Amino acid sequence: MTSKHQSADAVVIGAGVIGSAVALELARGGRSVVCVDKGPSPGAGSTSSSSSIIRFSYSTLDSVLTAWEAAAIWRNWSDHLGAEDPDGMARFIKTGNLIFCTTGYDGEIVMALWDQVGIPYERFDAAGVQSRFPGLDVGRYYPPKPVDDPAFADDADGALGAFYDAESGFVDDPMLAAHNLAHAARQHGAEFRFRSAVVEIGRRGDHVSGVTLDAGDTISAPVVVNVGGPHSARLNELAGVTGDMRIGHRPLRQEVYAAPAPPGLGLEDGGPLVADLDIGQYFRPQPGGMLLVGGTEPECDVLEWVEDADHFNDQPTIEHWETAMLRLARRLPEFGVPPRPVGLAALYDASDDWVPIYDRSSLDGFFMACASSGNQFKNAPMAGQFIRALVDAAADGIDHDAAPVQFTGARTGRQINLGAFSRRRQPSATSGTVMG
Ligand SMILES: Cc1cc2nc3c(=O)[nH]c(=O)nc-3n(C[C@H](O)[C@H](O)[C@H](O)COP(=O)(O)OP(=O)(O)OC[C@H]3O[C@@H](n4cnc5c(N)ncnc54)[C@H](O)[C@@H]3O)c2cc1C
Repeated sequence: MTSKHQSADAVVIGAGVIGSAVALELARGGRSVVCVDKGPSPGAGSTSSSSSIIRFSYSTLDSVLTAWEAAAIWRNWSDHLGAEDPDGMARFIKTGNLIFCTTGYDGEIVMALWDQVGIPYERFDAAGVQSRFPGLDVGRYYPPKPVDDPAFADDADGALGAFYDAESGFVDDPMLAAHNLAHAARQHGAEFRFRSAVVEIGRRGDHVSGVTLDAGDTISAPVVVNVGGPHSARLNELAGVTGDMRIGHRPLRQEVYAAPAPPGLGLEDGGPLVADLDIGQYFRPQPGGMLLVGGTEPECDVLEWVEDADHFNDQPTIEHWETAMLRLARRLPEFGVPPRPVGLAALYDASDDWVPIYDRSSLDGFFMACASSGNQFKNAPMAGQFIRALVDAAADGIDHDAAPVQFTGARTGRQINLGAFSRRRQPSATSGTVMG
C-alpha cells in the first residue's frame, strides 16, 4: 500500500470531547481541519468513561468562570453546535450539587469565588442538610479510611454542614456529546480520520510541520494540537516540547461504579450530585434508579499512576469497589451494597495541580489541550474556544507566554485569563484532588 500525503491548516490529534470541540472551533474559524484518532469513533477514549458532571466548584477564579460559562453552553447544546446530530443529541440533566464541608475543605474559597462571579448558592448547617436531604447521614467521619482500618466503622465524631447550588448536573451520554461536536465540526468542513495513530510530529526549524500516521501517511499543517487525553504526555514528548513545561501531567487510573440508588433520597430520579471529601467519594444520580460513584483521592488511597496509557487494567477491582461501597454506606444509611461490582476503570490525565493545560508550546504552531485532570469534560466547549483564541493570537504575532491572551466569556462578559492554564504557570493553589 502506498502512503498518501495531505495538507491542512490544522491537525487535531484526538477526537475525544475536547479534541472534537477544538476541531469544531478551528473549523468555525475558517481553517481546514483534519482530526486524527487512533480509536474507532469520537469520544471512544477516556471521554466514554466520564462521569460527565457539570459543576462550578473550583478553587481558582478562572476555573470557576470557565465552568460557569460552559454550563450555559450545555444548557443550550443545539444552539451552541448549530447542527442537529441525526444520531441523537446529548442532554444536560440538572440536579443541583451538594458539597459537604469538612476538615481541609471548608468550601470558603469556592463560595467566595461564587460571590465574585454571581453564582447563586445556599449554605446549610448540619440540621439544614438533614431537613433538606433527609436520606443523607450528616456525620463527620473524617479522615477517609481504608476498610481494614480498625477506626473505619467508628461512630461519627461530629456533624457536617454543606453548600448547594441548584444549577449543576450532568450530561447523560458523554460519548454522544463528543459525537455531536464531531458532527458539528464536519458541517464546517472538518475531516475525521479514525483508526489512525500519530507516530511522528514533524518540525521545520522552530515550527511544527505536520504529522506522520502509523500507516505511513503524512499530513502537513502549520498548526498541530495535542488533545490526546491520557496519551498527551507521550505526544508532548514525541513533539519534543516538554523541556520548558513547569507543570507535569500523567495518566492516573480511576474506578467508577454504578450501584442502585437507595429509595427515598430523590436520587433515583434526579436528586443532587454529592461531593464528599469527608468520606472521599462523589456520587451522582444515573438514569434508571442508579448512582454513579467515584473517588476524590483521599490521602489514605494509593494513587495508581500508569506508565503506558495503552496498557492498564480497565476492570474494576473488588478491593477498590468494596471500599467505595462501604464508604458510601456511611453517607447513605439506606444504601444496600450490591452483590458484585458493576463499573469501569479508566484514566485521568492528571496534572500536578489538577488544573488543565490549554496552551501553546515551545515549538511554534504546536498547541496542547491536555492535563484535563478528571474534571474537564464540562469545559470541553470552552477548551475548543480557548485553543482557537490561542491559535488566532499566534497567527497575529502575539506571544501568549509573554502577554497572556484574555478570553471574554459570552455569558458573563468577564475576562478569563488563559495564562491560568499555561504549561509554564506556577502550580495553582487547589484542593489537590479531582475537585480542582
Ligand atoms: C472516570 C472518569 C470520570 C470523569 N468524570 C468527569 C466528570 O464528572 N466531569 C468532568 O468535567 N470531567 C470528568 N472526567 C474528565 C473528562 O472526561 C476528560 O477530561 C475528557 O473526557 C478528556 O477528553 P479528551 O478529548 O481530552 O481526551 P480523550 O477522550 O481521552 O480523547 C483522547 C483521544 O486521543 C486519541 N489519541 C491518543 N493518542 C493518539 C495518537 N498518537 N494518535 C491518534 N489519536 C490518539 C485517543 O484514541 C482518544 O480518543 C472524567 C474522566 C474519567 C476518566
